[in-house]
Amino acid sequence: VAGEETTTPKDRRPIVISGPSGVGKGTLVTLLMERHQKILGKKASHTTRQPREGEVHGQHYFFITKDEYNVMRDGDQFIEYNNFNGNDYGTSKNVVDGIIASGKIPVMEMDMHGIQQLKDNGYAARFIFLAPPEMEELQRRLQRRGSDDEETIQKRLEIAQQELEQAKSEGFHDKVFINDDLETTFKQLESYIFGLEESVEGP
Ligand code: 5GP
Repeated sequence: VAGEETTTPKDRRPIVISGPSGVGKGTLVTLLMERHQKILGKKASHTTRQPREGEVHGQHYFFITKDEYNVMRDGDQFIEYNNFNGNDYGTSKNVVDGIIASGKIPVMEMDMHGIQQLKDNGYAARFIFLAPPEMEELQRRLQRRGSDDEETIQKRLEIAQQELEQAKSEGFHDKVFINDDLETTFKQLESYIFGLEESVEGP
């Protein structure tokens, strides 16, 4: 069973998880980290976006100013970075190195432009995409969450549409999951990460 401390993935490449906002990414990643905290390591990205209600500095993101962001970017401190819908995001090299040094497999979250940068740099990682069952459902989830105004929601849906198209192109992601039912998706995600898919019938 994945989750027992004896189980550790053979594939030690960092795990990159992406998918549109509202897809349930946050919940799935939180579950994954809770269940496998000795094996997987995740630290927040840096962003210039304003915190949403309930978001905690250092936990959901490191919320930084545009100046601080520019210093990090110009100092080559990000393994990838991108401007998403008017806000800047980046994955800190230090943070990822720290996770690897502690013997854990890094789990990172980023958008498709971040993935493209890692691929262009020949960065070895496993790229996972979480897709919504349908766009209407994504819209409902974003509206229910209530943390973005209507204009932001529309822009996010537009980007989500582009990400879905990208996810359909063969070989961009290593694995795509459709998050219809949270519990089911979680089990699939866990099995994939821990390499339990093929060994289901085996000893
Ligand atoms: P949100 O504002 O909804 O938290 O995130 C917006 C988008 O930025 C999402 O697609 C999220 O996965 C992505 N994102 C979060 N952190 C990073 C990062 O460090 N780098 C990049 N490129 N994208 C990120």
